[in-house]
Amino acid sequence: MNNLLETPIEYLKGVGPQRGELLRKELQIFKYSDLLNLYPNRYIDRTRYYKINQLVDSASEVQIIGKIIHIKTVEFGKGKKRLSATFVDETGQMELVWFQGIKWIRENVKINVPYVLFGKINSFNGTFSMAHPEMELLEEHKASLRSAMQPIYPSTEKLNSKGISNKVVIKMMQQLFVETHVLFAETLPTYLVEELQLLPKHLAMFNIHFPKSQELLSKAQFRLKFEELFFIQLQLISKNLIRKHKIKGHPFDKVGDYFSTMYTHYLPFELTNAQKKVIKEIRNDLGSNAQMNRLLQGDVGSGKTIVALMSMLIALDNGFQACLMAPTEILAAQHFNGILELAKPLNINIKLLTGSTKSSERKIIHQELEEGRLHIIIGTHALLEDKVKFHNLGLAIIDEQHRFGVEQRSKLWHKNTIPPHILVMTATPIPRTLAMSLYGDLDISVIDELPPGRKPILTVHRYDSNRLKVWKFIRDEIEKGRQIYIVYPLIQESEKMDYKDLMDGYESISRDFPLPKYAVSIVHGQMKPSDKDEEMRRFSEGKTNIMVATTVIEVGVNVPNASVMIIESAERFGLSQLHQLRGRVGRGAEQSYCILMTGNKLSNESKTRLETMCKTNDGFEIAEVDLKLRGPGDIMGTQQSGVLNLQIADLIKDKDILQLARYHAIQLLKKDPGMEKPEHQKLREVFIALGKKKNIWNYIS
Ligand code: ADP
Ligand code: MG
Repeated sequence: MNNLLETPIEYLKGVGPQRGELLRKELQIFKYSDLLNLYPNRYIDRTRYYKINQLVDSASEVQIIGKIIHIKTVEFGKGKKRLSATFVDETGQMELVWFQGIKWIRENVKINVPYVLFGKINSFNGTFSMAHPEMELLEEHKASLRSAMQPIYPSTEKLNSKGISNKVVIKMMQQLFVETHVLFAETLPTYLVEELQLLPKHLAMFNIHFPKSQELLSKAQFRLKFEELFFIQLQLISKNLIRKHKIKGHPFDKVGDYFSTMYTHYLPFELTNAQKKVIKEIRNDLGSNAQMNRLLQGDVGSGKTIVALMSMLIALDNGFQACLMAPTEILAAQHFNGILELAKPLNINIKLLTGSTKSSERKIIHQELEEGRLHIIIGTHALLEDKVKFHNLGLAIIDEQHRFGVEQRSKLWHKNTIPPHILVMTATPIPRTLAMSLYGDLDISVIDELPPGRKPILTVHRYDSNRLKVWKFIRDEIEKGRQIYIVYPLIQESEKMDYKDLMDGYESISRDFPLPKYAVSIVHGQMKPSDKDEEMRRFSEGKTNIMVATTVIEVGVNVPNASVMIIESAERFGLSQLHQLRGRVGRGAEQSYCILMTGNKLSNESKTRLETMCKTNDGFEIAEVDLKLRGPGDIMGTQQSGVLNLQIADLIKDKDILQLARYHAIQLLKKDPGMEKPEHQKLREVFIALGKKKNIWNYIS
């Protein structure tokens, strides 16, 4: 951009130090360019003029042409005055009122001269009135080059109370355009502007602030949204390219015995096509010269574990070690047992390392790892400790990615002189649009197919008042040999209360399902890990019928005989969590059920969540609804939401533009990875300037 646009905002005519201070504090407007990028929230159509007899009883803002025929000061109460005028057009009459600035208005307002009024309509006892209207002589109104649509800018209470009204902001903006309008150079390559028929930059900027018509406004919005998303995509994609060029990985070019033997002889089931496709994608990555950084998305139960194992076998075949990290001990143990079982015939050394691994065992693990005698290590955060050193780590797999931060990824990355390939697995489906924006620098694989023979889980919503019926249903299911989960919320802030709810629930369930006919397990966060494991084991071995738990069982746990999931206070859970919990059932051959229990009072948002759950089992569809309900920032956690501080585009509503921007960013970088061609010179300047301003994704470097 240009230096003039870097000018501090107080130097703009009509701003000055005091208003400058306010603009900085309230709207983070420091420079000319910041004001320029303050886009209106909405616009009011000022192409339309109302007649007085067309007014309806509403608080809408209207524009009327007419004359003041009479004006008077009215006293009401102790020394309080208002100014009242009768305003007419050829269809009727209405009242105008002022409570402030009475003297000035009285002296300046012209009687029997046509004015254009603008303001909010009030109706009282069948007469319409307007308080403190904006007024302009019809003559001047015609002469002024006003835009058809009046912009309404973002504001704050403080700004308004200090006299920086929307009108004042418009004035500032006009002044800014007078001073700087020649400077809006085109930022996008000409061929792109032509091909996509985009409004040129300077016209887009003008029309976003002062639209000449609805059509031009739409075009301006499209152009600016495209530009914003395009630069983000350029940044993400070029990072990915740079990584692939600069960061050499270990090429795993051998398809060796472990992989082939497992694949041809020991798979316990036929892989789904989606699993095959994903394994192929990973193999291609691992075989290339570049370091892999891949996100594997697959709904709960889609079979990510076997994909993880097959990937690790490729590392082993090439003489490297592999590790798999999970967010909880239960999950790590479950992965360990599952993978041990699957890989039994292969005769490889696999061990588990968690916080509760005994120190004697730990020593052996450390030593075997360093000497390269341990092939696969599975564990929790314990894997990240400095004491854990690898002989040659070739592949690191992280399960349930959203629980680990970027920092942890980076720690794994540094476990080897040449960074290991990284595969991040997540069961939280991320809508494609969001994935594209957040993980544009990762390659993405999706398992979009469940193993065959699964019956869709039936989900219903029941009120607490129907609990007896629900209990009857549970008894019938237990009679058939099934097992039941009953889950209570656990939210950090109200842990004590939640704990009480859980214990109360446990007690009454134990009463309703008494020994010796029934056995009830309980698992919660305040238990010792060993006790937790013991209870989990009893349940998974079928020794207990009901598992009462908090959300600790949310991830990963696999008990195929459990076919009913009851979620208490379901209105308190987010959609993705509900979906995760439901994923604990539906893993066996039997019909499974999910029952969402709630009280009678539900917010609209809760209702939408419950309805969505009852309607679909598709994690991606649920994620889309979740994104709409919560907005992108919340979904990924606040630390990443900076990425999504978009100025004008909206990841949900502007999906199509995002896709378009991504496509063209990829095309451009394919042709000219360094953006060095003459036609990309301006683009490159903007790109570099933007990169300095905000680092779009704090990628491991
Ligand atoms: P995820 O980790 O993706 O939630 P898992 O890997 O735990 O899923 O697999 C869920 C269940 O499905 C496991 O019991 C697993 O043995 C089984 N499974 C996985 N893939 C297949 C397949 N292709 N055919 C049949 N069953 C499968
Ligand atoms: Mg899993």
